[in-house]
Formats: sequence, structure tokens, C-alpha cells
Amino acid sequence: MHELSLAQNLISQVLNLAREHQAKKVLRVSVEIGPFSGVVVDSFRFGYEVLSQEHGETRGSVLEIREPEQSFRCFSCGHVFNGKKMGDPCPDCKEGTLVAWGGDDIILLSVEME
Ligand SMILES: [Zn+2]
Repeated sequence: MHELSLAQNLISQVLNLAREHQAKKVLRVSVEIGPFSGVVVDSFRFGYEVLSQEHGETRGSVLEIREPEQSFRCFSCGHVFNGKKMGDPCPDCKEGTLVAWGGDDIILLSVEME
């Protein structure tokens, strides 16, 4: 399962950070999942919950997931719009067409530890 290896990567990142800061316990992990990542958020969360139990540092930590809306950028004028579709005409300059704009990966935003 793709999401499981992504969760594993995240936990490795978090563990590295915890060790760098000589933290004993990770309390909260915030990530942003890019709207074009294709990640199944529930599976990712499940993977995190299972795998985080395997390490003393991450056991019991809370995973916060942000999912920004898909946005699209005009090819011609560069304006960014939400609530549009790929290939729609630009509502602003009416010249360009809209292309996907936004993350397609998982970004670690912050880690709270003690
Ligand atoms: Zn435009």
C-alpha cells in the first residue's frame, strides 16, 4: 500500500527530528497533503497510527492533516483560482486556460515535541 510507505517516510522524518532535538516524546505532527498527491488521507492516517506505535518517541502522538483545496493557475496571466476545473478558460483574462496548481506531495509543517 502506497500510503503505508508514505506514513513510514513521515515517521522516519519525525524520528530524525526528535533525535536531533533530543526529544523524548513527539506530541503532535502537522502535515499538509497536496491536493494533487492522490494520497488516500484515511489510509495515510491509519498507516501513521499503526506505525507510530512502533517507536517510543511517536507512540500516542497526534497527526494533524491539512488538505488545501485544489487550485488552478492561468497559463497566460498567472492568476490562481479555486473551485475551477483543469482546462477551464481563465475567468480573468479570458485568454489562457487553467492548469493544476498546488502540491502533489506531503509536506511536514511542524512537529511538537518535548
Ligand atoms: Zn488568465
